[in-house]
Amino acid sequence: MMGEDAKKFRMYVNGEWVESESGRRFSVTSPATGEKLGTFPKASREDVKAAVDAALDAQSTIADMPIAEREKLAVRIAEEIGNGVKGYARDLSLEHGKPIGEAIGEVHDVGPNILWQLEDLKRLDAPALEGYSTPDSWYITRWEPLGTIGVITPWNFPWLLPGEFVVQAMLAGNSVVWKPASYTPVSAAHLMECIHRAGVPPGVINMVTGGGSEAGTAIVEHPMIDGIGFTGETSTGEEISRRAGLKKLTLELGGLGPLIVMPDANPRRAAEDIAFGCFTNTGHCCVANERVLVHEDIHDAVLGPLMDETKKFRLGHPLDEETTLGPINNEPTAEKMEENIQDALDKGAKLLYGGKRVEGFPTKLYYEPALVDGVTEDMLFNERETFAPVAPIFRFSDLEEAIRIANGPRYGLSMAIHTNDLKTALEAARRLKSGQVTINEPVYSWDYHHPWGGFRKSGIGRIGARWSLTAFMEIKTVMINIGRSGR
Ligand code: NAD
Repeated sequence: MMGEDAKKFRMYVNGEWVESESGRRFSVTSPATGEKLGTFPKASREDVKAAVDAALDAQSTIADMPIAEREKLAVRIAEEIGNGVKGYARDLSLEHGKPIGEAIGEVHDVGPNILWQLEDLKRLDAPALEGYSTPDSWYITRWEPLGTIGVITPWNFPWLLPGEFVVQAMLAGNSVVWKPASYTPVSAAHLMECIHRAGVPPGVINMVTGGGSEAGTAIVEHPMIDGIGFTGETSTGEEISRRAGLKKLTLELGGLGPLIVMPDANPRRAAEDIAFGCFTNTGHCCVANERVLVHEDIHDAVLGPLMDETKKFRLGHPLDEETTLGPINNEPTAEKMEENIQDALDKGAKLLYGGKRVEGFPTKLYYEPALVDGVTEDMLFNERETFAPVAPIFRFSDLEEAIRIANGPRYGLSMAIHTNDLKTALEAARRLKSGQVTINEPVYSWDYHHPWGGFRKSGIGRIGARWSLTAFMEIKTVMINIGRSGR
């Protein structure tokens, strides 16, 4: 039996599907249909301790495993995911709300991503140096696993984001205790089933389910956890960094990504990228275009095509193949969208389109995409992520002002500029304080093979390609005296 027993899911510890010691459970409800999808154990500090104990016992099993053997595990995990894409994507759509086409793409990409990092592992090298004071000494550097890693993941991409950490931490030679988000644990259970079926040895990857304040905190504070791989909100990342002590932290946090449209940009192309980056995945993206900064000279030329692009998004049941915008995943996010829009309207902005709940669906979470014009720096849109399908439009009058607005809130994950002028593009690329700057692309843009992560409030560390391995490793120097002994 694989974790599911009449929709009663279990946690995975030491190679077994287990209950919580207290027997407490929480339930997961579909934002699309309102139906209860299942219940999950609510892990306590004791449950986390049991998972960490199992991971500690398994540490040397994985650290001593040859790369060729880790490769077989990674390939089998990728195959297991690949064999089940359709069914996993359906469950992902139902528990998250994202359209089925997006869900298929998300699940499908996890396998190739793992295999990419496997190739990086095979080629991970470190320099050997000749001694500076004497050629008799050699310095050999080695990448070594940290030990046991706590992985904590959010709900917005329930396959993609664990798919950047959980298996990679293992590939790097670590054992893992993973806690997925409580809004989307069904997808987590499916990924865990794939890992189980692939034959990963007991204790090497463990999954506990439950709340952030209880199970999440217990992982972060556990003295035998050596590193944390976390993706989630900036405020949670700040709390983790306060509680974690000297553990090695990789924190992939929020973004408030601006898309800057300069007056020489192509307005239609800009409108397409604005709509794509604001409404894809229902706006539940760290790399959503959270702020749309349009030069005053091109504002009106962009607005017409942007209205057309926005109207193209078809709100509906996520399993309907015509749907391109599903429901918002959860009520707190829906309320944040309402608060951010209301705050902007109260301070003088204009709602040009949508932004209201739509009747006639099974839940109250179905929203029309929203266009809000006249947004300014004193509004909530400029302070916190909306994380929902809205395009807040700011005006600016020169590049200097755009860069000031872009960098102002001190988030720096991905930022975009649309321009046909190379000098302007490169000046922006240099001056925007962000882990990624995209040129003539949406903020929402990434690939497998480049470093990913934020400046400032958007995080610490990098993942992607070999960075997903070295995030969970330390470099060690071994000094050898190859000549005369003594001094
Ligand atoms: P969240 O911070 O509320 O929760 C993320 C995870 O942390 C969940 O598993 C949660 O249970 C757990 N958690 C909550 N409080 C905790 C605590 N005190 N200690 C330990 N764990 C705790 O984030 P969310 O709402 O699930 O996700 C959305 C956020 O994630 C957005 O801010 C988004 O920008 C960010 N994100 C960033 C990236 C990136 O690559 N930088 C990617 C995706 C999402």
